[in-house]
Amino acid sequence: MEQALEILRNTFGYHSFRGDQQDIIGDLLAGHDALALMPTGGGKSLCYQIPAMIRPGTGIIISPLIALMQDQVSALLQLGIKAAYLNSTLPVQSVQEIETGLLNNELDLLYIAPERLLQERTLALLERIQIALFAIDEAHCVSQWGHDFRKDYLALEQLPQRFPAVPRIALTATADERTRREIRQRLGLDRAKVFISGFNRPNIQYRITTKLEERRQLLRFLETEHKQDAGIVYCLSRKKTEAIADWLSEQGRTALPYHAGLGPEIRHRHQQRFLREEGIIIVATIAFGMGIDKPDVRFVAHLDLPKSIEAYYQETGRAGRDGRAADAWMVYGLEDVVKLRQMLEQSDADENHKRIERHKLDAMLGLCEITSCRRHALLQYFGEESPAQCGFCDTCLHPIATWDGTTAARKALSCVYRSGQRFGARHLIDVLLGKENSKVRKFNHQRLSVFGIGGELDMEQWRSVFRQLIARRFLTVDMEGFGSLRLTDQSKPLLQGETQVFLRKDNKVEKPSRRRRDETLAQVSDPELLEKLKACRKQLAVQQGLPPYVIFHDATLVEMVRYLPANPEEFLQINGVGLNKLEKYGESFLTIIRGHQPAAKTISP
Ligand code: ADP
Ligand code: ZN
Repeated sequence: MEQALEILRNTFGYHSFRGDQQDIIGDLLAGHDALALMPTGGGKSLCYQIPAMIRPGTGIIISPLIALMQDQVSALLQLGIKAAYLNSTLPVQSVQEIETGLLNNELDLLYIAPERLLQERTLALLERIQIALFAIDEAHCVSQWGHDFRKDYLALEQLPQRFPAVPRIALTATADERTRREIRQRLGLDRAKVFISGFNRPNIQYRITTKLEERRQLLRFLETEHKQDAGIVYCLSRKKTEAIADWLSEQGRTALPYHAGLGPEIRHRHQQRFLREEGIIIVATIAFGMGIDKPDVRFVAHLDLPKSIEAYYQETGRAGRDGRAADAWMVYGLEDVVKLRQMLEQSDADENHKRIERHKLDAMLGLCEITSCRRHALLQYFGEESPAQCGFCDTCLHPIATWDGTTAARKALSCVYRSGQRFGARHLIDVLLGKENSKVRKFNHQRLSVFGIGGELDMEQWRSVFRQLIARRFLTVDMEGFGSLRLTDQSKPLLQGETQVFLRKDNKVEKPSRRRRDETLAQVSDPELLEKLKACRKQLAVQQGLPPYVIFHDATLVEMVRYLPANPEEFLQINGVGLNKLEKYGESFLTIIRGHQPAAKTISP
């Protein structure tokens, strides 16, 4: 264990282990198997990298993310760790070099995709070398219940038979019990100790706001809080990702679309730019993100609602892996609820599957409509205890008022009923508000008893009422037609005055959190110096064709600004600076820090 700590400090430049890292490493060093569940950014990689370096032989890392292997390996080489990867993108000559290196026991770590690993040729090669351990990353890919099932992962069942003496560790950020069981069973990890870290991501602020004009709202969020930051904007459709990316570019941001309909070269180019340049915004469908381990994604914005809390948590989890403050921001409105409900009903999945999906969507809508702490609700969903108030999500910071919506809800429901359960919310609201437009006249709805009975609320408020009624299943969306609304079993008692409903009073203007801002300011006491350090990092990255964060994370630069190291010993004290990086980059950064004249008005931290 002492050796592990030494590697943590000298090679990785970190002061201490986090969470379960130390115990997991201890288990692997003792030759045991392990199953580690940790949230994104929790520090999974160290758990297998360090024991692989200590145990004799090479650690084999199985990962589905071919596109990222190169960067992962570059980052390790930067730390002075002997690492390589084998995948289909490599030329024959490099493959031969790596194979020779393996046979000569020259590698600490080898990254490999499952399909490659399971080729007879590779297995035969591995049988000739000493293996320190197998690490199966993104282990939930073996589960058919999970959302990222990959057939190739099933064949990993062979590993325990072929390599019975080699310890195996499976890692994932996916929590749920059923997936966990399937991983253990399929990967033969029955005797593995299970390590479950808390799933809370304390540095992420969760915010969900009513959608009014999504573009304007997004722009305002970016302008006031993320002027130069890198982030991801998720949209439901391919077309929309392109439209939003174009529009953001017109607004002066560098925004690139990403979806499965774009050719592989374009997708690769956009992903590379996102990783290598600073301040890029990716506007993407869910096709983007698995395994993106860019640490400095400062925000994840959703313009459309994810289909489940699992998806929401995974997507928002891509923000702030470096532990610094990050935002999970979403707008959602009546149309989203209608669209998702409709898509679900129209899908040709069997009824059983639909029931599960409906359940998941209900939970997601529940999270949107909640008036108590969002973080608490999220963690509760994953079965984790947490304080009732986190103090750091939108509902904690700006408490939501509720109002007795019983009368309004009854008016809305009877309007649905009287007009024959054939119309969408927009028309129903026109009827309630007594608007005699052509559609109203065409159906003679000005004659209905509900015509004009809703004058106490304006259109936006009625939209909020309908949204909440649909989200809470007092109304369903018709499978066919254009979002026509129908009553449900639940609506009867409400219509008959037997139950009450309380509705949330939507905040009209979105208020960002003050606390977060203050924190960011305190962290960067001298933004000018930070900019200089970033420029230096950029130059070093470009020279070597690497993403900047592979040189140093933002958090490391921020520490430099705060502690102003004056010599190599002090530089080594900075979190994220190990011996190799001290030697490679110490002088460049120290020179800048020494030569920097702080502006007179700078307040010291
Ligand atoms: P995961 O794979 O679980 O999402 P990573 O292994 O990529 O997370 O680690 C997330 C970030 O935290 C990385 O930037 C990593 O360097 C950093 N990190 C990991 N362990 C520690 C530690 N003990 N101290 C400080 N930083 C750490
Ligand atoms: Zn909260």
